[in-house]
Amino acid sequence: MNQDPRPVVVVSRCLELAACRWNGVSVACPFVRSLQAHADLRPVCPEVELGLGVPREPVRLLLRDGGRRLVQPATGRDLTEAMDRFARTYLDGLSEVDGFLLKSRSPSCGIKEAKLYRGPERGAYVEGKVSGAFAAAVLERFPGHAIEDEGRMLNFRAREHFLVRIFAFARFRRARASGRMAELVRFQADNKLLLMAHSQKHMRELGRAVANHERLPFDAVAARCETVLRAALARPSRPSNEVNVLLHAQGFFGRTLAAREKRYFESALQQFRDGRLPLSAVAGIVHAHAVRFEIPWLLSQTFFRPYPEALVDLADSGKGREL
Ligand code: SF4
Repeated sequence: MNQDPRPVVVVSRCLELAACRWNGVSVACPFVRSLQAHADLRPVCPEVELGLGVPREPVRLLLRDGGRRLVQPATGRDLTEAMDRFARTYLDGLSEVDGFLLKSRSPSCGIKEAKLYRGPERGAYVEGKVSGAFAAAVLERFPGHAIEDEGRMLNFRAREHFLVRIFAFARFRRARASGRMAELVRFQADNKLLLMAHSQKHMRELGRAVANHERLPFDAVAARCETVLRAALARPSRPSNEVNVLLHAQGFFGRTLAAREKRYFESALQQFRDGRLPLSAVAGIVHAHAVRFEIPWLLSQTFFRPYPEALVDLADSGKGREL
C-alpha cells in the first residue's frame, strides 16, 4: 500500500496550538497533538483575525430582529459582517482541505452547540443552540467534508469516522492530482471494501464512475468520483455492513483454512456482533490470513488500515455506537 498522504485539516488555533482564547488560554486537546504528526494542520483563530486581540472581551451570538448577530457586549461592537467577510476570504483561499476540527460551543467556531442569547446582558435567556459565525460559513461552503469539534473526538466512533474521512479524502486528492485515469481506478479498487462498509450503493456507483462507459474527460470523472465518495462516507460505517465485509474478505480463503481457524474467526465475528470485540480485532484476523496466503487485492484494501496505526486509540467517552 502507498504511504499515507497527509490530510489538510483546518484547526481552531486555540486547540492545543496557541493561547488565543478570549481569556488568554489554550484548550488541551490530545487528539490535535497526535494528529500533528500525520496531517498538515492549518490553524486559524477567526476572532484574532478580526483584530480583537488576546486577551479580549468575550463575544456572543444574539438573536436580533429575527436574525443572529455576533456581538461583543462589553464594547457594543457588532462583528457579524466583519466575520462574514473574513470567513469568505479565508475559505475561498483554501485551495485544498480535507477536514475541519473546530472548538466546540464557541460563538465563532462551534459547529452546532454555540449558545444563542436573547440579549447582551449577563444571565440573558438562551434561545437555543446554533452554529458559530465562522463554523456556519464552513458548513455552508464545504458540504460533505469532515467537519467536527474536539468534544466529539473523545468518542471512539466519531473519532474513527473523522479519521477515516480525512485520510480517504487525502488519498483521493492524491489520485486526482495525478491527472491519470489509472490512479482513479486504483483508488476505487483499493477503497472498495471501505466503501462497502459504509454504503454498498455508493460502492457500486464509484465502480460505475471509474468504468466511465460514457467516455467522459478526466476532470468530469474525478468530479463524479468525489461526489460519490463524500456521499458514501457521510455516515459512519454500520456494524452490519462491517460484518458483510469481513465475511466477503474471509471468503477469499475458501478451503485453505483449517477447521479450527474458521471456528476462531467465526467466534471472533460473533463477539464483534455482540459488541464484545472491536472491529480492528476481527479485521486483524482476516488481514493476517491475507498476509499468510499473499492475496494482493486484500492486502491493498484500506478497510484494514484506513489511517495510520499511530492514530488508533480505542478509548471512548462511553457514548460509542449511539453516534
Ligand atoms: S474558539 Fe475559535 S475564535 Fe475562539 S479562540 Fe478558539 S480559534 Fe479563536
